[in-house]
Parts: sequence; C-alpha cells; structure tokens
Amino acid sequence: MVSRVIPVQPFDLIIFGGTGDLARRKILPALFRRYCAGQMEGEARVIGAARAEMSDAEYRSFAREAITEFGAYAACDAEHLDAFLTLLSYITLDARGDAGWATLAAALEGSARIRAFYFSVGPGLFGDLAARIEAHGLAAPGTRVVVEKPFGRDLASARSLNAALARHFDETQIYRIDHYLGKETVQNLMAIRFGNTLFEPLWNSQYVDHIQITVAEAGGVGSRGEYYDKSGAMRDMMQNHLMQLLCLTAMEPPAKYDPDAVRDEKLKVIRALDPGQPGDIVRGQYEAAGKGAGSQPGYLEEVGNPESTTESFVALKARIGNWRWAGTPFYLRTGKRLRARASEIAIVFKDAPHSIFGADAGQHRNILTIRLQPNEGIELGVTIKEPGPGGMRLVDVPLDMTFSEALGPEAEDVPDAYERLIMDVIRGDQTLFMRGDEVEAAWEWTDPIIEAWESAGTAPCAYATGSSGPDDALALIHRDGRRWREIRT
Ligand code: NAD
Repeated sequence: MVSRVIPVQPFDLIIFGGTGDLARRKILPALFRRYCAGQMEGEARVIGAARAEMSDAEYRSFAREAITEFGAYAACDAEHLDAFLTLLSYITLDARGDAGWATLAAALEGSARIRAFYFSVGPGLFGDLAARIEAHGLAAPGTRVVVEKPFGRDLASARSLNAALARHFDETQIYRIDHYLGKETVQNLMAIRFGNTLFEPLWNSQYVDHIQITVAEAGGVGSRGEYYDKSGAMRDMMQNHLMQLLCLTAMEPPAKYDPDAVRDEKLKVIRALDPGQPGDIVRGQYEAAGKGAGSQPGYLEEVGNPESTTESFVALKARIGNWRWAGTPFYLRTGKRLRARASEIAIVFKDAPHSIFGADAGQHRNILTIRLQPNEGIELGVTIKEPGPGGMRLVDVPLDMTFSEALGPEAEDVPDAYERLIMDVIRGDQTLFMRGDEVEAAWEWTDPIIEAWESAGTAPCAYATGSSGPDDALALIHRDGRRWREIRT
C-alpha cells in the first residue's frame, strides 16, 4: 500500500514556547517527519519564540538534539535533517512584555505564506499572546492559532480562555488540540462506523449491551507531579480525551465529514449526558510498590504532597439520554500505574436473543474492540463452532485486523498525532480540533462531579501498582452484572 502525501502550501509557523518540553518532544520531531515525508514545501518557515536568549544557530542545534532524541531522526537521513534545520529560526520574545515583538513583526513582514501561531505555553499566556499578535498587526483573516491542553480547569476558566481568544480571533481561526483526535485509530472509528453498512444498524441500545472505554497507563506521574497534583485524572484525561472518544463512539452520523458537522454531533452527545451520580464514580490513588532497588514510590510520595486527595485513577458509568443510547451504559476508566499501557474502546453487543444450541453451549457475545495502543487495530470477536467432532460446542475467536499486518509495512509508520494535527492546521481543517462550545459543555458536565467529591472531602481509594485499579472500580461494573475487560498489551 502506498500512502499519498499531498504537500501543504508554504507556511510560517511561529511556536511560542519553542524551547519548551512539548516543542522538543513533539512539535519539532513532528515537523521534521512531515518534511521527510515530502509534505512541507521548501519555503516553509518555523520560528521558535520564547524567553530564553538564543541565536538561530543555537535553536537549530536545540532542534537537532530534540529530533535525534525523540525518535524521529531514524526516519530520515542526515542530509534531510540539515536541510530541515535551515527552515528554522529563533526570536527571543516575552509574551507579557514588548521584547521581541518588533523583531517578529519584521520577520513576518510581507510574507504571503499561510500563518499559524502555536501557543505551546501555559494557558495563562494565551490572552497575552492573542492581544499582542493583534496589537502588532500580525494576524490576517486566514491566520490560525493553535492552543494546547489543558483548556481550563473548570467551566469558568475555560469560558475566560475562550473569551480571551475570541476578543482577537474568530472561532474558525482557533485550533484547540486534543492529540487523541489525531490518532489514526480514533479517526478510523469514524471510518468504521460511517464507511461500512455492517455496524451502524447495530450501533444502538437495541443491540449494544454496554461500551467500555479504557485509557490505562503503566507509568506514574513522573516529572509532571506538581502539575498533575493540581489536576488529577478527571481533569487531565476524562474531561477531554475520554470524553472525545465517547463522543465519536456515540454520536449520530454527521451529514458530511466537515468540521462543524462533526463537532455539532459531538456536542449533542455531551449535552445529552445525564448528570453523573456520586455512586457511579470511583477515584483512586496508586500505592507504593516493592522494596529496595526496584521499588516504586506511591502517588503521595511521587507528587511530594502527603495530604493530597487528587486522583490518579477514575472510573465512571455514564449514561446518554437520547433515543439511540437510552439504557446502554458507557463505562469509562483511566489511570496511572495500572497493569499495562493500553487504550481501547470496546463495544459489547448483547447476547443472541435465543440460543438454539442449548445451555451447554454457554453464553457468547460479539465484542468489537478498537485498539488505540499498543498495536493499533480493530478486533471483532465472533462465535464459531469449536472444530472437531463431539457435538456443537461454541467458541469465541477474534477477527483481528492489526493495521500494520492488514495494510503492509507502511502502516507501521503511522504518523504521530501531532504530525497530522499540525498539517491539518496548515490545511485549515478544524475537524479534529475541539470547538469552544464543546470544551465548555464538557466542563459543564465535569464540574458538578468534581465539586461533589471536593465538598464531600472524601479521599480516593488506594490501589496497588500494576493492578486494574481500586476494588470499588471493579464493584462499579460488577453490580450491573458485567465485568471490565482485562487491561493487557
Ligand atoms: P515548558 O514549561 O516546558 O515550556 C514553556 C515554554 O514557554 C518555554 O519555551 C518558555 O520559554 C516559554 N515561556 C514561558 N513564559 C514565557 C513568556 N512570558 N514569554 C514567552 N515565552 C514564555 O512547557 P511545555 O511542557 O512545553 O508545555 C507547553 C504547553 O503545552 C502547556 O500548555 C502544556 O500544558 C501543554 N502540553 C504539554 C505537553 C507536554 O508533553 N509537555 C503535553 C500536552 C500539553
């Protein structure tokens, strides 16, 4: 299979926070890979802008190290890297002061390229950057701004961020990143649902017993402890990534694959969510593991806050109050230090209404699993006859389509989510970016849940490192006569 690469128009991409961790680990390597793939025309320019004093040459060596360290370098040869680095320059600039803005204005003066400003800085600087871009006359109607998560920590802060951006930019210019939407399998969810006639007729409460969405990480909070402790799994993962996966799984078919048509349908799902009930939500915190050399600290120790009640795990049962999904629960869970790093969406279909094979054949269910990581792919569990003589015994087998096997070696080289999303920004395609009203609606649903447990003052349940989460999370689904799927790679 040969994938088509359509080059984008020449562009100027200004990365505010161009010396930060995200630029180093994701943005610069993603740009390099797209360059190697032939998607960036030679006239593209990438301008790093941050507070540090740095020359162009120093920024290029910063980018060289980042690209070498974060895996992208293997994709391409040294000659490509040298050529790519010539597209880069650097401006020392203060988002909150005047330093550097005149230099940036001079660099952009007269450029007819597509212009995109990437706000790879904390959200506290979004308003300052937007105001200064306008004050210095750096934005035209086609200019785009890209903003990173977290987009607020509650409805009020998300609204104020939206308002700060809206003072200077139209919604059609604002690209709010949720990198989960850039994942190949997540987009495949739409292809599977709306490109096949097979699934959509069954995609409702009449045929679907329940849906499970799991985003499990094996690692702990690591160096992000200080940030994470102010956020927690609900704000960091559930409100955005899992909510987006829920929306794409549950939404009605949009009339066309177009940014607003897709986002309108996602928004309807969030607005149809029933309010979360306290008994339907379980929070957890991981415990320390092991002793001596191979030991791992517990959450409290890792974040350096022995009093912390922030959750590193959350599981909940969500209900969507509409015709399609009334009566079908969505079980969502995400957490750190779990058994494995594994993310999937599992559509668990109902049992056949009547078994002609008798009680001995047992109960069998079709499960469609969309694996986000690892081994991106789709698996459909079907029931067949167990081979051999001896009567009609049934067995479940997977129809497994691991993309790399089904589509050939090129599919193994799946572009990182950031590669796709940055190129979508340049192309002006907002389909895979969150709209302001979507983000606000998600906070509107999340806020009362967080407020309820904050006012109750309850501590999260402890869970063992390497487990599937707290026992209460198992009970959450067991009491409905169901069980979580095993977290495995
Ligand atoms: P960082 O702290 O590593 O980098 C921040 C950057 O902002 C630096 O380049 C710094 O010089 C610049 N900066 C700070 N104050 C400035 C000012 N007044 N004027 C100009 N530049 C200034 O942060 P990061 O990890 O790169 O994160 C950037 C954004 O991306 C944050 O909103 C973060 O939440 C988000 N994000 C990061 C990651 C990640 O993996 N690092 C993942 C998802 C989202």
